[in-house]
Amino acid sequence: MASLHTVISVIGSLNVDLVTRTSRVPSAGETLTSESFDIGFGGKGANQAVACARLSQTHSQAIEGSFADIEVRMVGAIGDDQFADEFLKSLQGDGVNTSSIQRISNQKTGVAVIIVESQNGENRILFSPGANYAVPAINLLHDDVSVALFQLELPLHVVLRNMKEARDRGIDIILNPAPASKLPDDAYKGLNHLIMNETEAAILSGISPPTSWDDIAATFVQKGVQNVIITLGAEGVYYQTAYRHARSNPGKLIPARKVEVVDTTAAGDTFVGGYAVAAARSKATPKIGAFDIDVAIDFAIDFANRAASKTVQKKGAQSAIPWLDEIPGV
Ligand code: ADP
Repeated sequence: MASLHTVISVIGSLNVDLVTRTSRVPSAGETLTSESFDIGFGGKGANQAVACARLSQTHSQAIEGSFADIEVRMVGAIGDDQFADEFLKSLQGDGVNTSSIQRISNQKTGVAVIIVESQNGENRILFSPGANYAVPAINLLHDDVSVALFQLELPLHVVLRNMKEARDRGIDIILNPAPASKLPDDAYKGLNHLIMNETEAAILSGISPPTSWDDIAATFVQKGVQNVIITLGAEGVYYQTAYRHARSNPGKLIPARKVEVVDTTAAGDTFVGGYAVAAARSKATPKIGAFDIDVAIDFAIDFANRAASKTVQKKGAQSAIPWLDEIPGV
């Protein structure tokens, strides 16, 4: 039987998280014994690639290595250090295609040294971008890509160069502009899906504190974005489309799932991954009319909400991202 094969390329960061928990932060010159230490694989790019891969197949499909209709390809760079092989193995175990990850000699894999104060949960993070900042600003997208997913943890000129490439080739572009930094107006032209949280929406629109989501969404639609999606944590998700905006229809608010929250780490990355999988699936189905766009977005947000609601019920980052068979109602 012929199967659809849709490729999602995630062009983004790969970081190793070195997490130390301590009762208090040591003073200058002081040595303290920590409460715990853990190593985890992360970076927004890698987290979202893992989310895409896990949300497009069941866990047993990944273990068997059986054919999934969606291929998730991670595009980025790691160093030539001891973290590199383990990182690749971990991604491969999740069903991510790692053949487009460059191993850069004389570079270290990106590392985030994270100190967590156990009493109040406050984080102090020192980020060393390493190989992430050595990704060259060339075309990184193969011919077969249907959906290209970007964040802002690679050098901006690499992201902009490849967003332009994707736009010129009619590839669906999803941008999660995190961490938020001002973008040239050009970046928004022809952007299919802009997915951000409230803080990012306020910084990028310049409307802070956020007053009306419709006003904020309008700033992006006017610059050429088709679909603006703003995640509002427990409050749900707001979205507006160029199609609705052109008819003076306000955006829509979709409630979050009501669940017991344990840890919201990686909720945003899971949401973006789930949305990208749904977008890839709708791209693989026969072309829909403009008035069906809302239906496709409602579906994508519902799926992404279900997935992220599983993540917030578990402790941890990548380890909390669910597989397709764990999503309620799917
Ligand atoms: P970020 O982690 O990037 O700040 P949000 O806090 O907006 O992003 O969360 C992203 C998504 O995770 C939400 O849109 C929702 O689907 C889910 N989520 C986050 N917090 C909760 C919550 N308290 N209850 C249910 N779902 C949640």
